[in-house]
Amino acid sequence: MLGEDERSRARRAFLRALMAFPAAVVIDSVQGASAQPKVRPTPACGAAAGITPSQTEGPYFKPSSPLRTSLLDPGIGGTKIVIEGSVMSTECRPLARVLIDIWQADARGDYDNVGYRLRGHQFTDDGGHYRVETIVPGAYPGRTRHFHVKLQAPGRPVLTTQLYFPGEPGNQRDAIFHPDLLMRLHDGETGKVGQFDFVLDLSAAARRS
Ligand code: FE
Repeated sequence: MLGEDERSRARRAFLRALMAFPAAVVIDSVQGASAQPKVRPTPACGAAAGITPSQTEGPYFKPSSPLRTSLLDPGIGGTKIVIEGSVMSTECRPLARVLIDIWQADARGDYDNVGYRLRGHQFTDDGGHYRVETIVPGAYPGRTRHFHVKLQAPGRPVLTTQLYFPGEPGNQRDAIFHPDLLMRLHDGETGKVGQFDFVLDLSAAARRS
């Protein structure tokens, strides 16, 4: 992603190019430069291989988490992060009203197993989007940094999975880590932003989860 300085440098370079090169060449270069930061990564749907893998629930899931899009309760320390993206079918159709339940460790790697700190659920909007404000979880013994997530389209089975951070040294030492569950991570205005698009297999037979 281009920073402000890089963008203004790119603009100056473009103006120089405008004066120096034939129009066709300039148009080509402008399209290339302007398209790159705006294009969202291609959704990982459309093939069986794109289905979001399931992962173990682990020992710390609690049902009945609060309905909320921010887990930033007073007193929560740590680096802020927004997790956002879409939930889609294998045909790349956005899925509305999908339940997304997220639970995680705090910055020190501890879970709240008494209350509901750093736990919450929400539903995707009409465009299949979700967005949650929270903090970067700490790693804890035996596990690399991760979020836990459960998703459920209306009347469909629950998918239990996890999300991971790129560039974490602990990823390769964690037997549960799966590279298909890496978020796209960048710095936003108020903290980090992790993007991930989930792909649900709606043809999967309903079963108790
Ligand atoms: Fe965990």
